[in-house]
Amino acid sequence: MNDFEGLRALVTGGASGIGRATAGLLAERGAQVAVLDLDPSSVDKPLLALVADVSDDASVRTAVAQAAETLGGLDILVNNAGIGAQGTVEDNDDAEWRCVFDVNVLGMVRTARAALPHLRRSRHAAIVNTCSIAATAGLPQRALYSATKGAVYSLTLAMAADHVHEGIRVNCVNPGTADTPWVGRLLDAAPDPAAERTALEARQPTGRLVSSAEVAGAIAYLASPLSGATTGTALAVDGGMQGLRLRPA
Ligand code: NAD
Repeated sequence: MNDFEGLRALVTGGASGIGRATAGLLAERGAQVAVLDLDPSSVDKPLLALVADVSDDASVRTAVAQAAETLGGLDILVNNAGIGAQGTVEDNDDAEWRCVFDVNVLGMVRTARAALPHLRRSRHAAIVNTCSIAATAGLPQRALYSATKGAVYSLTLAMAADHVHEGIRVNCVNPGTADTPWVGRLLDAAPDPAAERTALEARQPTGRLVSSAEVAGAIAYLASPLSGATTGTALAVDGGMQGLRLRPA
């Protein structure tokens, strides 16, 4: 399928995990792709690698301008860069709350603000935010992270409403636990990584973790002309975790 032929995409956090799989898939399907990341050294040509920190407005503005100039405009923004946090409200102090909100929420606001003038000139403009089932699932030990993803979900709906009349669609994906380097690091830090993996797998009705490729497929759908009538939605990619109401076996 070359359904992205002629389209230009910017993927934040595109050097690893879900973002890397998404950038690769969009390029494979014909898009010109720029990757914005803290460390894009793993990004291979023909993808355009841009060093930037989504928690720094000036660096985001410079990178987005570079992407638009090099690619000749922008049609797709995949707001994917994000970081994790564990614990209850008692475990993270104000500085940690500000830091994670700065990356996970304001990071998406900054890239959107910088990209919107370019997206307005596109005949096929789409923003896809990487949210999480944590936005609505009530996961234990994830108060700060869940709050940031709840904000990403609301932001997605509000932006969809604000920009629908400009022809800009805004949607998000809600992955369950996905088998990315991030989750690999969490497992490595657990006292018994194999037992922790088994517990995470058992949480998902499909009995396995979601793959980065599966999340990338959902993002690509929401970014593509195939989803032209879809805006203001969250697409779950969670092995049935939220939609199914199964009793534990
Ligand atoms: P990852 O750690 O494998 O990749 C994240 C990428 O984002 C890295 O390349 C990192 O360098 C980049 N990044 C981090 N902070 C940045 C910053 N300030 N500026 C620019 N780039 C930055 O993680 P992943 O698992 O692929 O997660 C990607 C997104 O998916 C995140 O938004 C995360 O919240 C979301 N998500 C992940 C899972 C999961 O289980 N892996 C589940 C739900 C949602």
